[in-house]
Amino acid sequence: VKDFGIEKTLKNLGIKEENKGTSVGGKYFASGKTIESVSPADGKLIAKVKTSGESDYDKVIETAQKAFLEFRLIPAPKRGEIVRQLGLKLREYKEDLGKLVSYEMGKSLQEGLGEVQEMIDICDFAVGLSRQLQGYTMHSERPGHRMYEQYHPLGVVGIITAFNFPVAVWSWNTALAWICGNVTIWKPSEKTPLCAIACQNIMNEVLKENNLPEGISSVLVADHEIGQKLVNDKRVALVSFTGSTRVGRMVSSKVAERFGKSILELGGNNAIIITKEADLNMSIIGAVFGAVGTAGQRCTSTRRLIIHEDVYDEVKSRLVKAYGQLKIGNPLDEANHVGPLIDVDAVNQYEESIKKCKKEGGKFVVEGGVLSGKGYESGCYVKPCVAEVKNSYEIVQHETFAPILYLIKYKTLEEAIAIQNDVPQGLSSAIMTQNLREAELFLSHAGSDCGIANVNIGTSGAEIGGAFGGEKETGGGRESGSDAWKYYMRRQTNTINYTTQLPLAQGIKFDL
Ligand code: NAD
Repeated sequence: VKDFGIEKTLKNLGIKEENKGTSVGGKYFASGKTIESVSPADGKLIAKVKTSGESDYDKVIETAQKAFLEFRLIPAPKRGEIVRQLGLKLREYKEDLGKLVSYEMGKSLQEGLGEVQEMIDICDFAVGLSRQLQGYTMHSERPGHRMYEQYHPLGVVGIITAFNFPVAVWSWNTALAWICGNVTIWKPSEKTPLCAIACQNIMNEVLKENNLPEGISSVLVADHEIGQKLVNDKRVALVSFTGSTRVGRMVSSKVAERFGKSILELGGNNAIIITKEADLNMSIIGAVFGAVGTAGQRCTSTRRLIIHEDVYDEVKSRLVKAYGQLKIGNPLDEANHVGPLIDVDAVNQYEESIKKCKKEGGKFVVEGGVLSGKGYESGCYVKPCVAEVKNSYEIVQHETFAPILYLIKYKTLEEAIAIQNDVPQGLSSAIMTQNLREAELFLSHAGSDCGIANVNIGTSGAEIGGAFGGEKETGGGRESGSDAWKYYMRRQTNTINYTTQLPLAQGIKFDL
């Protein structure tokens, strides 16, 4: 068995055999039950975490509220300086944090490192943004009046995240939330608690070195009940939720009931349209990476290929060949393309989906299956598979968080776009074509209905500079780049009268 240096990594990141899962600033405590973090890579116990209990919750909220009163007074560019320092620390810890992501979550080491790179990128982006939290100025209809708008911080921002991006999603939210003057409380997935503790440890160093109040950054490693408390808590101004559509639907209605704000980043059912004018070499690489990268556990994973009938057979046979070359195994070993699923429950869902697909008439051209034997002791390794289906199958309409790729044939581009849009989700989409007319139709108002629409790159992944998120059951939220920062602030319109008169708007007279 290769030693991937995990012990050293854990030590460098401050992970002990037994950890406490609640932290405000540098203080750790916890009164909940103990959970175990087991690696899907080798099935070994990595460490234990005592989770946050009910009694820890109020302490965290109250400390965060107190910290907010101080933090909001620090000028935004100075808050940007704090985020800049976090970016520097992340550069220092990149190797270790990337490795922990890979070992605890199961994605390849390259993807783990890529996730940390995204954290660094969002920090850089947020630093620049901290000098650009701009509002409009408007011309008043009244003489001697000035109108403008400002953006102010919201207060406590709750961040609930999924297991599949166990560190990056935290930073997408925190980097923006902090430069906007908010304080944050993170409820990470209970499947990746050590990644959360490692991030908090890194941020604690920054807070300590800058003498900042505890409570700017807090973590609650806990089950969904503590998540529910955050959702229902009026003291939490914004809940940024990343996870399944099933849970997101509940979060959305509960937060709306109390007139809180939410950002929802939910499931996807992403497709690539491969037209007869596509570069097929690029199409195959984009499709295979999109479908099997992170073992199909990205919200942007490619789940459907919608292929023109003229190139359908060729694409199919090249896919079968490419799938035959995939190496499945320990994600820390760079020779492997595909790592494990997160846990045995996920494996069961994968098997269940294959069964359902077959029952509905799906024909598998690359068969799936669970792997066993040497190197697969965790029971979490599965074979990426490919099936020919109809878009209307119930199983195709759902997101299965596993490497199952569906092939669908089309005749006209209008039909392909209709198929692409005919699912409940609306996250990521792509077209492979060298024909300008096809590309432009796909991007037009008669084209893809997704939050992300790409030409000649796949559906998987995104850059920090663009706003990230999707429509329909994906929840409508946007994070990261462009003007996503506005979600983390409240907008205020100001009118100032610098005359000795009080003229009313719309010419209304009110003489006393
Ligand atoms: P999940 O919905 O099971 O869990 C997400 C988080 O919600 C976890 O922290 C969990 O503890 C918490 N939670 C569960 N029940 C809750 C409740 N009742 N109240 C409050 N919190 C609760 O999702 P998962 O299995 O961890 O992640 C996979 C899903 O996340 C996929 O559907 C994927 O597409 C989606 N995802 C979306 C994006 C995006 O940006 N659109 C990014 C990553 C993952």
